[in-house]
Formats: sequence, C-alpha cells, structure tokens
Amino acid sequence: MQISPGLYRHYKGGEYFVYRIATHSETNESLVVYRCLYGDFSWWVRPLTMFTESVTLEAGQQPRFAFVCPMSVNEAERRASGESLEVQASAEDARFMAEAIKLAERASDNDEVPVGAVVVQDGQIVGRGYNRPIGGCDPTAHAEMMALREAARHLQNYRLNDCTLYVTLEPCTMCVGAMVHSRIGRLVFGANEPKAGVVQSQAQLLEAPHFNHQICVTPGVERAACQAQLQGFFKRRRAEKKRDGADKLD
Ligand SMILES: [Zn+2]
Repeated sequence: MQISPGLYRHYKGGEYFVYRIATHSETNESLVVYRCLYGDFSWWVRPLTMFTESVTLEAGQQPRFAFVCPMSVNEAERRASGESLEVQASAEDARFMAEAIKLAERASDNDEVPVGAVVVQDGQIVGRGYNRPIGGCDPTAHAEMMALREAARHLQNYRLNDCTLYVTLEPCTMCVGAMVHSRIGRLVFGANEPKAGVVQSQAQLLEAPHFNHQICVTPGVERAACQAQLQGFFKRRRAEKKRDGADKLD
C-alpha cells in the first residue's frame, strides 16, 4: 500500500480523527505520528499497518484511512521530529480562503471588521460566517463561531473532526476554544493578528498540552490579500472619522 506523506483521517471509536503520516528519515518507512498526552513522551510514532485495515460503517465498507491534505517529504520529516503542527498549503486551500475573503467583504459592507470564515468537509463548504458582533448585538459573533455553528447544524453533529476551518485572520482565544470543542481537524488562516491572535502571535494555545485534541495549522494562506482587506477597511474608517470631525468644526 503506497501512502504519501500528509494528513489523513482515521476512523476510531465511532469518530474520525486526523493524523499525520510521515516518512521516517532513516528507514523510509511510512509512519503515523501523533502527540501523546500522557507519560513522558511528547510524540508517539506508530507503524502505518496498525491503521490500514477496513472498517464496516453504516454507510458500508469504508477505509479506516482517508486522505485530507498533502505534505512535502521534507515537511514530513520535520513533522516526524515533532517540531510543529504546521502543514503546507495546497491550491485548494487558496480557493477556500478566497471564499472566506468574499464573506469578509460582507462584514466590511456592514461596517464591521472584515473577517470571513468557511468550514469545509470533503471539498464542500458546509458552514459560512462573517464578523457581525455589532450588528448582531452578540460579542460571540466572530466569523469562526458563525461558520462552526452553521457547519454543526448542517452536519447535525457538534463534532467536526474531519473538517477544516478557513479564516482570513488568526483566531482569538474564544474561537480557539470553540475549535477545540468542535474537535475540528485543521485550521487554515490568512493574516496574523498581532494583538489578539493566540495561534502564533500572543500565544500558541493550540500547542498547549492540556488540550485533549490536536489541530493541524496552516498559517499565511493568501496572507497579503487578507491583510490588504483589513488595512483598507481601517484606512477608510480613519478617513471617515477625520471627515466627520471636520464637518463638526464647519
Ligand atoms: Zn474570535
């Protein structure tokens, strides 16, 4: 069985879990790499054969493994050493980020900070959201929360293990919490949020060992476009405020 390095979902105990498959740098063997939360080892490596049998589900005979997204071999080797949970972006990632950027534009049209998000399962968008805390009188109405809610409603399942969340801006503490509760498999984000971002900028919450769920992260997808959208919004707002101030003086 030929398996390329990348992310795969694995059916276990009635749920899909997302794992990384890497190539061992010395033996060239394909391995399942995942973080162990107990004992002294921070990373565990298991032979792939343990995960490749088929399993009978309600929908019929299903493979235990299903491909989620690719990783280059070098990338895989780096992962196998347990350095980071980041995964390379694909052309599909750019396509779904473009959808999130379109949704962010709707927030901007309503005078809200332009952040957009989509949740994707098997190449299909199952949840959409854009930032609307002011209009919705809802401090939790961040793009990620809206997209996760819609996806869970659509799939009739509060667990989103085999889904990817795409968002134009690095998530905040609340949204990281919601992602862990939803057991989302993967996060792809665009621009960094230096003040409130807790995936890379202010903290690396997803690396925290007390979370019993691991989320693979791909940062910086369509970063320039996401940043330009936010900068354009704040520039326009500053200009409007200045103009309003000048009107009052007249
Ligand atoms: Zn948030």
